[in-house]
This record gives sequence, C-alpha cells and structure tokens, in this order.
Amino acid sequence: EARTLVLVKPDAVRRGLVGEVLRRIEAKGYTLVAAELRTADPALLEEHYAEHAGKPFFEPLVTFMSSGPVLAAVVAGERVVEGFRSLAGATDPTSAAPGTIRGDLGRDWGRPVTENLVHGSDSDESAAREISLWFPGL
Ligand code: ATP
Repeated sequence: EARTLVLVKPDAVRRGLVGEVLRRIEAKGYTLVAAELRTADPALLEEHYAEHAGKPFFEPLVTFMSSGPVLAAVVAGERVVEGFRSLAGATDPTSAAPGTIRGDLGRDWGRPVTENLVHGSDSDESAAREISLWFPGL
C-alpha cells in the first residue's frame, strides 16, 4: 500500500490544529501508520528540503520549521501521495481552494516564509526518501 510523509508544521501546532488535520486525513479514509511530535534539528530539515538549497527562502524555511514542534506522520492508503496533496491544497494559503486544509485554515501572515500548515511528499520516490529520514527503520 502507498505511503506518504505528512508534517503538521509549527504554525499549525501553535494554533492547535493538529487534531483538525488528522481528522481530515482519517475522514478521507487514510490510515495513520506512525506519528510523533518533535522539534526537528536544522540538519534534518536541510536534508528534507535539499531540493530548495540555495533558494532565497531556504534559510527562513529551515528556521521556521525548527521553531517549534511538528507532528510528523506516515499515512497509508491507495494513491495517498496524490490524495493528501489534494487535501492540503495549493502552496499559497491565500489562494488555496476552500475545502482544503490550507484554503480553509490558512492565510498570509506577512512573514518571510509561506506558513502553510502542512507538508506532504510530492511523489512516491520523495515519500520513501522522507519516511526514511524522519522514521528510520519504518
Ligand atoms: P510542501 O512541500 O511543504 O507540501 P509545496 O510542495 O506546496 O509544499 P514546495 O515548493 O515544495 O511547496 O516548497 C516547500 C515549502 O517552502 C512550502 O510549503 C513553503 O512553506 C515554502 N516556500 C515555497 N516557496 C516559497 C516562496 N517563494 N517563498 C517563501 N516560502 C516558500
């Protein structure tokens, strides 16, 4: 069965939205395989976001993502990579469609990084790489 890595980002944890995000994942019919609340090391986040190294938002992104706990989760289900990205909505929460996590719960706060509540792997290959990074041995 397919798996994806979901991160409930520090902005969502601070706002008390962990339950709401997990509720939407479970209501869609996906299964939680693992979940852990933890404050990630910058080194882990630099690996996680390696494809963005060198971009102007890279350092602010790593700073934001290590600014407090994230809920890291492995979620399973048929075509779950695509399905969770559909649940999450577009990257920019201001224009993300209503009905999505970002569209319903997010907005622009005028801060340097796009604080958009959640991360989901963008392909099966990324999911495998990210799951081994966050949950070695799973
Ligand atoms: P994610 O990978 O977090 O699910 P995504 O695939 O929609 O989101 P990416 O393009 O992979 O977005 O960018 C990773 C993250 O970096 C975004 O979710 C956002 O938090 C931040 N980000 C992306 N582009 C910008 C930008 N132009 N300015 C500021 N932050 C950005």
